[in-house]
Amino acid sequence: MNHTRRDFFRVMGLGAISSRDLFVRGQEKSPRLTPLKLPKISNVKITDVDVYYFDLPLLEPFKISIAEMKDALNVLVRLHTNQGIVGWGEAAPFPALSGDTQATSIAAAKDMAELVKGQDALNYVKIINAINSFIPHNTCIKAAFDMALFDILGKVADLPLYKLLGGAKNSFETDLTISLHTPEETAIRGLEAVKKGFKTIKAKVGVSMESDVARIKALREAVGPEISIRIDANQGWSVPEAIKTLDRLTEYDIQLIEQPVSASDLAGLKQVRNSVKIPVMADEALFSPADALQIIKSEAADYLNIKLMKAGGILPSLKIAHLGEAAGLRCMVGCMNESNLSISAGAHLHASQSNIVFADLDTSFFLKVDPVIGGITINNGMVTLPEQAGIGAEVDPIWLKKLKKAF
Ligand code: MG
Repeated sequence: MNHTRRDFFRVMGLGAISSRDLFVRGQEKSPRLTPLKLPKISNVKITDVDVYYFDLPLLEPFKISIAEMKDALNVLVRLHTNQGIVGWGEAAPFPALSGDTQATSIAAAKDMAELVKGQDALNYVKIINAINSFIPHNTCIKAAFDMALFDILGKVADLPLYKLLGGAKNSFETDLTISLHTPEETAIRGLEAVKKGFKTIKAKVGVSMESDVARIKALREAVGPEISIRIDANQGWSVPEAIKTLDRLTEYDIQLIEQPVSASDLAGLKQVRNSVKIPVMADEALFSPADALQIIKSEAADYLNIKLMKAGGILPSLKIAHLGEAAGLRCMVGCMNESNLSISAGAHLHASQSNIVFADLDTSFFLKVDPVIGGITINNGMVTLPEQAGIGAEVDPIWLKKLKKAF
């Protein structure tokens, strides 16, 4: 049965009024949009780029199943603009995980600096795409440039970054990580974390079934049943080892296991997920949005661990969070050994999205000195976002004077 436009309006109770009448009857003039009376910045040209060696000594070596780090050999990036606004970014290479080093990051930064100079920072997607077209991988230094651009955007908008990106919350819980230690030492550190007010502890595992079970048993007995324990094997187990060990760990009420098996073995990750009761989170298997898509399609994980240093910054991290949301997979924001500058950038990402529900943003507890002013604060395991525009964190100018420029 064919319906005419007239039939439609009759059904809608509009009788003989034609659609044209709806817009011209009475000949009232629609008001024009009233321009906002805000200072207008339409072009934020990047005029110069500073890149510094940013070495951060750790309180003690950070030990995981596949590597050990004594210092965080990071890279600091500062973008200058014609508006006097500066953007701060940090790269925190963890060579065994991220596949880059301080030296490779600096070498790439030299070329990236030339790519971004003269560009309008407001065209951040164009700039980030140009960097990605120039060189694949190198995600840590890409993250530094990306977050510096977002810092500028927030400052131009005069909004803290988490509000500019979505503003889902302004505070959330983070865990505290215990690296690989003996069972006794793991228990002592667990109790210390509880005394500091943390409600969730992340413990590193992935060495051997007996030592991993002993470590987690000691931790659970020390902290009691009210504390959440999540564990991270950093690819340390084979598939059969992972299944056997996780079966034995189930009685200790484990919230989730990060990356039990090799990053390259999605089929193995899926096999572990299908065989154990503890939910599985993809970490080293997930760098890019394309990786997230593969994990989702393979049904290989329950959760996604997003890190700015793996994804290459905030823009790709948002894409991963959105893919996770569409697929019904909740996300974590984790970190490498970062100062409170990029930790704060990660916290803004977390707070901007409701699908990011777990946080592992604790490395400022492992640094001998954190030379950053502003940024997030952590009290009793709760992260509070800064309300200053942009990331709301920068390197202490006194410390900055001591840093060596990379070129
Ligand atoms: Mg991990």
